[in-house]
Amino acid sequence: MVNKRLEKKLKSPRLIFWDWTGTLADEAQLDRAICEEIEKFIALTKQISLSQAKELFQNYLKELEGQWEWHDYVRHSRHFNLPWKEIQKKHLDKLKLLPDAKEVLNWTKEKGYINILATNAVRAIIKLRLNHLKIEPFFDTLITSDDVQALKASGQHFKLGLNLYQAQPSKCFSIGDNPIQDINSARQLGLKTIHCRFGTNLTHYHTSHLTSNHQELVKADFSINQLIEVKNILERNNHG
Ligand SMILES: [Mg+2]
Repeated sequence: MVNKRLEKKLKSPRLIFWDWTGTLADEAQLDRAICEEIEKFIALTKQISLSQAKELFQNYLKELEGQWEWHDYVRHSRHFNLPWKEIQKKHLDKLKLLPDAKEVLNWTKEKGYINILATNAVRAIIKLRLNHLKIEPFFDTLITSDDVQALKASGQHFKLGLNLYQAQPSKCFSIGDNPIQDINSARQLGLKTIHCRFGTNLTHYHTSHLTSNHQELVKADFSINQLIEVKNILERNNHG
């Protein structure tokens, strides 16, 4: 028996590239706790003061600003010889999903969109977080920065997703809170964009890398104040 919905999905794939931090999840408390944990571990293993450890970690991160490796907690932990998984798991209870995230992801799936999680996080870390929230089944595909060895600002996440599904950019959306990482890069490739105004304070900035991005002007097709507004935008545009 032919599954009409699947057939339609494959003929004319409509992709939604979802950003994670500041769009679907509030990671401010989680990432702050993890950075503090890393600093404590550095102080302990190197037998230095906490302020020296903080400085060491900050300087290390500064070197990685503007590169995808800045987001790689596995790399950071290995660099300082620390147990990355233990540090991540210890604070997972501080991770918060934003209101209506599951509802909207479920709704887009039912409408025949392909949900792609496109993130600057690395796969090992995002998998831990998605599993903790039991949200991975809502996504058809994950595209992480270590998959493409680039930041979302480069457009590589979007290019990979478009290639994977042989999709036309004009039928696809990028939804995210960061003007540089989620909006401008997607627009340049011809995707429609939805900017989430609420994301700025949901991210922990251990260095200035993303802070400056968030201050850039946004030229999105749509802007929203809460996730549930995505439904209306998709109903009015690109539906069918
Ligand atoms: Mg974000």
